[in-house]
Amino acid sequence: MSKRILIIGGVAGGASCAARARRLDEGAEIIIFERGPHVSFANCGLPYYVGDVIRDESQLLVAGPELFAARFNIAVRVQNEVMKIDRAASVIEVKDLASGKVYREKYDSLVLAPGAVPIRPPLPGIDLPGIFSLRTIPDSRKIRDWIEQQRVRAAIIAGAGFIGLEMAENLAARGIKVTMVEMANQVLPPIDPEMAALIAEHLAAQGVTVSLGDGVAGFEQRAQNRIAVRLNSGVKHETDLVVLAIGVRPESSLARAAGLEIGERGGIRVDAQMRTSDARIWAIGDAVEVRDVITGGWSLVALAGPASRQARVAADAICGRTSTFRGVQGTAICSSFGLAVAMTGATEKSLNRAGIMDYEKIYLHPRQHANYFPGSKPMHLKLLFRKITGEILGAQGVGEEGVDKRIDLISLAIQKQGTVFDLEEAELCYAPQFGSAKDPINMAGMIAANSLRGDAPVTGWESLTSNGAVLLDVREESEFRHGHVPEATNIPLSRLRQRLQDLPKRQPIKVYCGVGQRAYYASRFLKQKGYRIENLSGGYQTYLQFRDAGLFRSKVQ
Ligand SMILES: Cc1cc2nc3c(=O)[nH]c(=O)nc-3n(C[C@H](O)[C@H](O)[C@H](O)COP(=O)(O)OP(=O)(O)OC[C@H]3O[C@@H](n4cnc5c(N)ncnc54)[C@H](O)[C@@H]3O)c2cc1C
Repeated sequence: MSKRILIIGGVAGGASCAARARRLDEGAEIIIFERGPHVSFANCGLPYYVGDVIRDESQLLVAGPELFAARFNIAVRVQNEVMKIDRAASVIEVKDLASGKVYREKYDSLVLAPGAVPIRPPLPGIDLPGIFSLRTIPDSRKIRDWIEQQRVRAAIIAGAGFIGLEMAENLAARGIKVTMVEMANQVLPPIDPEMAALIAEHLAAQGVTVSLGDGVAGFEQRAQNRIAVRLNSGVKHETDLVVLAIGVRPESSLARAAGLEIGERGGIRVDAQMRTSDARIWAIGDAVEVRDVITGGWSLVALAGPASRQARVAADAICGRTSTFRGVQGTAICSSFGLAVAMTGATEKSLNRAGIMDYEKIYLHPRQHANYFPGSKPMHLKLLFRKITGEILGAQGVGEEGVDKRIDLISLAIQKQGTVFDLEEAELCYAPQFGSAKDPINMAGMIAANSLRGDAPVTGWESLTSNGAVLLDVREESEFRHGHVPEATNIPLSRLRQRLQDLPKRQPIKVYCGVGQRAYYASRFLKQKGYRIENLSGGYQTYLQFRDAGLFRSKVQ
């Protein structure tokens, strides 16, 4: 008798799992149940369909039921919602949404790939016309139709996370004035605030208004289908369209009702082979809790890459193979008006939350390729690593070009338990239009390794408030006059040798320049002269990010 594999949910995780299972077991009967009208569609393209970058809806359909049947002999039942799992009988109960008929199907192996649902808090007026979430093709079509029918001029986006940022860009591209409201004190809450400050600045330059530290409290209908949006602060906005992008929660209701183990974050608990607490049921994608490879804690990561890797592992396990899922490190990227922001591994926030305190960090602001080659642009990188071993813990990057390549490289380094010494040593392809002979990755490794070896110790800008150190700015006088850190003494690098007597030997010295390079030269020189010296990582550029993120409390403003 052939094995019966039933799969609930037919998009990123479910469709991949079905196709992999077929590649491993030609004899299995495989059926996908999908409550929506489409399987295997490109959720990640939806904001760009709203923005008319993707014009033809059919471009979002990666593979339809006919292709699954013809190419893989996989049955796909769209608009069929699984209502219940009867574990004792190994049966699911399904409702055909078109006919209303309810029927039962027996399984040998069951895969749950139901995804996540957008959070819609029970606020007054939340169901008014003109308030949307974005998860499916029909959702994006509704937003497009509303924009066209109502001639939308202004929109409010609740939530400045990845989807909120992508929607801001796409609505603005349609000539819509965008206001973003974010409960946290920074945009893009998954990254660290001083990196997020770069995005906030860029949004403002693009004419997007951002209200931080405020939330949506309720909605009221106004004439001509306009909506009054009331914020927690009492501020009111009148707008034509509201997009709720305040996060998702795992769709674990079926699993919960079936008595499967659910984690403290609300996701379905699985083992390394994606098996749930029932040995014949697997779960994958946005619905599951998985281990964070850095902190070791349980984590919910709603990203397409992990969903498709988990799909492969679950199919392998169902078909008798022993591959395992290594966990997640949250490698993600997003575009905001031409600026890419990417991350991998732990952030400083997540390290602090997990109580991992033996880390160090560095900042750098290199160009994505050789400075002299036309089109070179700055990028901003932050690297986190263990103090003693140099093991890489995480990285974040912001910039117009080349950020994806660097964060991907660091992602793989983390996967291989790489250290900053590996980055220092990395042999990377180079021609002037692609990188630098000393690539930003090598530079990051060198700065971190120099610090760990004690050659040029770095310190973070938050330590500026600690007492007793001399603050030395080694930029040129003209740069200093243009803007500097309060209470800093300016001795340009080129005059440091002549003015050594101006620096006290008994006090520690914290040195900075524009982005860190001249301060490095200064610190090597001063160290050899017997001074106690630390380099304020990333220079004045990083200082401005800290200041813009509101991270200085007392002394420095
Ligand atoms: C607008 C948007 C943009 C995104 N952009 C990116 C990006 O750029 N990069 C990235 O990595 N990730 C992105 N994501 C996230 C990514 O799409 C998800 O992580 C991924 O789709 C998760 O796959 P999944 O199979 O778990 O869930 P989904 O792909 O959501 O599929 C779950 C399916 O299960 C169906 N279902 C649920 N319950 C039942 C039931 N009881 N019966 C039958 N069917 C059911 C649902 O209808 C749904 O179609 C984006 C998501 C959205 C919404």
